[in-house]
Amino acid sequence: MFDLSNKVAIVTGSSRGIGAEIAKLLARQGAKVVVNHRSSPEESLEVDSFIKNNGGESTIIQADVSQSGEAQALIKSTLDSYGQIDILINNAGITRDTLIMMMKDDDWDLVLKTNLTSVYYCSKAAVRHMMKRRTGRIINITSVVALAGQAGQTNYAASKAGIIGFTKALAREVGPRNITVNAVAPGFIPTTMTNSLPQEMIETVIKNTPLGRLGQAKDVAQAVVFLASDEAAFITGQILTVDGGLVMQ
Ligand code: NAP
Repeated sequence: MFDLSNKVAIVTGSSRGIGAEIAKLLARQGAKVVVNHRSSPEESLEVDSFIKNNGGESTIIQADVSQSGEAQALIKSTLDSYGQIDILINNAGITRDTLIMMMKDDDWDLVLKTNLTSVYYCSKAAVRHMMKRRTGRIINITSVVALAGQAGQTNYAASKAGIIGFTKALAREVGPRNITVNAVAPGFIPTTMTNSLPQEMIETVIKNTPLGRLGQAKDVAQAVVFLASDEAAFITGQILTVDGGLVMQ
């Protein structure tokens, strides 16, 4: 089950957190993995070493995926190294939380460009290649915040809700070429992104989660590996929530 031997995967923003866990798990299932970061070479090296020390294959490619040229270069460098791309995980993301009255236009623009426009840049470049091969998996990391909303996160929620619409539209476009496009919506996962949130808020999340605990990056990675696998061949245009039941649609 979930054998990814002979597959090549790119995980954007995989120097730490959820992306790092996805990269490690894809490699454990046999995929050759491209570890990407914008500005954390040392953390990327740790992920790359972990994969290699555990018998996997990986390469680090630096690229700021919010920039069109750099996103295209990430796809091209992967093709130059491995000759194919089977799996694209659009995971890179940031927050710039503040109430709308205090939000600077730059905070809005940066979050939209990093979280949403990057998904368009990377998917467009990868789809060009996947269409020719008539196979491919694209998995976009959205958030339960896109479904439920969160005060102080209008920019983040808009970017993540945009990913949901993008996922469904692209799934319809590329389905006839045997390419699936899905999204995973994590709940609250302890990472660098969330480590400054107040303890009170974390306790409220746990209280409202039917499974009674926070998620782990591994919980998200396992869902991603399933969607990337041959076993998920007939699933496309779906949003898989990984949140212990916090948000039910
Ligand atoms: P994280 O620990 O802050 O990691 C973010 C990763 O994205 C880092 O590797 C970072 O590398 C990379 N990144 C940021 N901007 C980039 C850019 N322009 N180009 C390339 N890489 C970039 O965050 P995380 O919690 O693991 O989040 C991963 C994804 O899950 C995000 O899309 C996030 O929105 C989503 N998510 C997280 C949670 C949660 O509770 N943690 C919940 C729902 C959804 P650099 O430092 O080099 O930029």
